[in-house]
Amino acid sequence: MQNKFEKSEQLFSKACEFMPGGVNSPVRAWTHIGMDPVIIDHAQKSYIYDVDGNKYIDYISSYGPLILGHAYPSVVKAITETVKNGTSFGATSEKEIEFCSTICETFPSIDMIRLVNSGTEATMSALRLARAYTERDIVIKFEGCYHGHADSFLMKAGSGLLTEEIPSSLGVPKAIAQNTITCDFNNIDSVKAVFKKYPQSIAAVIVEPFPANMGLMLPRTRFLKELRKITREYKTLLIFDEVISGYRYLYGGVQNICNIEPDLTTLGKIIGGGLPIGAYGGKKEIMSLVAPIGDMYQAGTLSGNPLAVSAGIATLNELKNKNVYENIEYKTKVLTKELENILSKKGIPHDIHQYGSVFSIFFTDRLVTTFKDVITTDKIRYGKIFRNLLQKGIMLPPSPYEVCFVSFSHTEDDIHKTLKDYKSCF
Ligand SMILES: *Cc1c(COP(=O)(O)O)cnc(C)c1O
Repeated sequence: MQNKFEKSEQLFSKACEFMPGGVNSPVRAWTHIGMDPVIIDHAQKSYIYDVDGNKYIDYISSYGPLILGHAYPSVVKAITETVKNGTSFGATSEKEIEFCSTICETFPSIDMIRLVNSGTEATMSALRLARAYTERDIVIKFEGCYHGHADSFLMKAGSGLLTEEIPSSLGVPKAIAQNTITCDFNNIDSVKAVFKKYPQSIAAVIVEPFPANMGLMLPRTRFLKELRKITREYKTLLIFDEVISGYRYLYGGVQNICNIEPDLTTLGKIIGGGLPIGAYGGKKEIMSLVAPIGDMYQAGTLSGNPLAVSAGIATLNELKNKNVYENIEYKTKVLTKELENILSKKGIPHDIHQYGSVFSIFFTDRLVTTFKDVITTDKIRYGKIFRNLLQKGIMLPPSPYEVCFVSFSHTEDDIHKTLKDYKSCF
């Protein structure tokens, strides 16, 4: 039989000579999928094409940014028009002002915002700001939540690290690790215990309000409200990491859904429309500590980059003006309901989590409600189905801990083809 992946395999072995693991971000190495990754040539709408000419319906969406799909016309137009007039100014442009004011208008908790270049930079800077404001050092995070790769967050993190099954990273100084405490998501008592022990020392609690880096998890009723209450009580800042969830479920964040105002919010992914960006923001009183008006230093040569900002503006415009959210939620519901039927009929134990356009399928015979449930799911079965679907032209995320995204560009035909292929996997 002819090898469908010949060119990808050749290129990947060359990649491995020059790039650690052949990749520039670990999850892309498909380490736990039992095959080498395909090398991508290009992407359009809901489709991604590899160098051997294979076409796939894409459920990765670049891990979150591409809510509209690949190479969405108005986003491409905005980028191409902008690029002709310079790619970086090292000075403020009118577009940045428009963009920042748009975000502040969407999030009641954000009066002022600072643009950076990635989600990692956003969370790292938000934590520094929380430490500056509270004059305290400790940060509480939750097991299975991912906040990028800054030293302070590499304790039992989810996402790539979870897949790699490294409990933490080498190279994180003990002095920094000591200032991070990991609690159990959805378990408010685990948080209360830490506050009791260190009532005066906790600068911030950082949380993905709808975690999407250990598959998709939803908070129990009141969990986020309790977090808001306890952080107020101890004068600790509450940081909502909305890098994935910002503009994902509605024109706004999870904070708009649950009506909770965090002290600081971090954004990324969708707000850059597929170009590198991040942002952190909050109330004026806190943001006034950021340099140059305050003494919390944070800067960036390419921050507020005109290309990223134009892609962001174009994306937010589409999200505001078209029925994107209803559309993607509907398609996702059709898909997950039918997947549920298929798996039940085949007698395959599973738990499907879905919210809006995000879903994840866990192969397990118990209900998945905690991080501990997530790590006991059947990864071998996930790998098998991944490889099987890839052969048929469906690209799932290469890890059961990464969620699937349905974009505005996915067609009903794409959904039906996915279901047909899924059914024939067994
Ligand atoms: C992706 C992600 C980050 C990190 O963003 P990068 O742009 O990859 O640095 C931080 N927090 C959450 C919730 C994310 O999903």
